[in-house]
Amino acid sequence: MNIPFDNTYAQLPERFFAKQAPVQVPDPKLVRINRELATTLSINLEWLESADGVSMLAGNTIAEGSEPIAQAYAGHQFGGFSAQLGDGRAILLGEIVDSNGARKDLQLKGSGRTIFSRGGDGKAALGPVIREYIVSEAMAALGVPTTRALAAVTTGEKVLRQEGPLPGGVFARVASSHIRVGTYQYFLARNDNDALRFLADHTIARHFPDAAENENPYAALLDSAITAQASLIAHWMSLGFIHGVMNTDNTAISGETIDYGPCAFMDTFHPQKTFSSIDTGGRYAWGNQADIGLWNLTRFAETLLPLISEDSDKAIEIAEASLARFPEQFNSQYVSRFRAKIGLPAEAPMPLIQETLDLLASQKVDFTLFFRHLTKVAAGDSPETITSLFSDKEPFEQWFAKWRNEADPANCLANMRASNPILIPRNHRVEEAIQSAYNGDYAPFHCLVEALAKPYSEQAEYADLEKPPLPEEVVCETFCGT
Ligand code: AMP
Ligand code: MG
Repeated sequence: MNIPFDNTYAQLPERFFAKQAPVQVPDPKLVRINRELATTLSINLEWLESADGVSMLAGNTIAEGSEPIAQAYAGHQFGGFSAQLGDGRAILLGEIVDSNGARKDLQLKGSGRTIFSRGGDGKAALGPVIREYIVSEAMAALGVPTTRALAAVTTGEKVLRQEGPLPGGVFARVASSHIRVGTYQYFLARNDNDALRFLADHTIARHFPDAAENENPYAALLDSAITAQASLIAHWMSLGFIHGVMNTDNTAISGETIDYGPCAFMDTFHPQKTFSSIDTGGRYAWGNQADIGLWNLTRFAETLLPLISEDSDKAIEIAEASLARFPEQFNSQYVSRFRAKIGLPAEAPMPLIQETLDLLASQKVDFTLFFRHLTKVAAGDSPETITSLFSDKEPFEQWFAKWRNEADPANCLANMRASNPILIPRNHRVEEAIQSAYNGDYAPFHCLVEALAKPYSEQAEYADLEKPPLPEEVVCETFCGT
């Protein structure tokens, strides 16, 4: 076998999915392959890069061992519940146990209609494929749990989007699993407790095997998911990342970031920043993400109640106690990440974190650049560069005096370097890569992916990518692209 498939989700009861092959496309062409990832998945690289491999990546051929399915799920989208969403433009080809013994899903996104497509065409334009490739790989290099990019291909056909006809693409995604809060909600909405138990047992075996040893494995599953989300969202926020569509169908139980639609890394900091064109109410703003995480986890807890205890009062009591631990878990992760960014020792008073963020917000300072320059100051550079980020020097000088007093640069420098990336996928660069790809030039895309593979390292050749956008380059809005 060119891909060592070992499928378990397809063995679950038939109501978990629909068997569905990807649709044929006219002219598959490879845009990029993630060789390193392919290697850890023990995929035959020579084959993957050949016409046969590219044909598989575009959905035109089904590799030996693959059992293509579209997964069923439901979800709350911007607070409103849909009892049936499902893979409308994605196909799970199968699972692979990687060289570390971890089970991974291999999924094609943009591979045609399924029974879950509703009004959609099941396709993806090349732009969102490029975006997900860049941002998911950057997230992985930044150390954030995330789905990965195995490959991007073009299909040789146009897809119709608001902007007009656009080149079509297919994205090959690798994930620890595609089990979402919405997968559980799908079965709760159907009062299908047997399915919920199958799904929970599958999730425990796959992601949280320790929970199986607990006297109440399903309560332990909830606790594990809570811990994973608390840590994930704190990690996002420490990098200025805004997911953009934290719907329950885009919340993976594994604790990986999934679905890079209208996501963005902030340039200038503001806690209420949103980018998504459809997030008009600011529901998924940077500073709301922890609250939304808890809201999503509460929806998850509801699905587990029948499994946690037959006595519904008792089940609610257990679930509420678990959920009540989320704010504390999130806070401790958030504080420790920001302490590290600022260079504060563990015992330093906490107010400086909020004061730092207030200062950045009030003067519209670039988030990444501020921490990058602060790290340089901690390493002994003159504060000139960081001072220049502030239009009103006085509040900065006051903050800086406090920082000198409370921070411990000598002992915290390694932590600062490990927490403050030099490079992030800036929106204007991602946009540039997308627009160039539409014009047939993939150089900016490849350049970004290569630079972002080492976001914490000094790479003089990529110094340009550190720069925030010029006023005319600022991207104010991002789109789902579906
Ligand atoms: P998303 O907001 O991208 O996570 O997608 C939400 C739902 O819409 C999922 O059920 C998707 O499968 C479905 N969907 C998104 N785009 C398309 C498309 N082009 N064709 C069919 N279904 C889609
Ligand atoms: Mg989604």
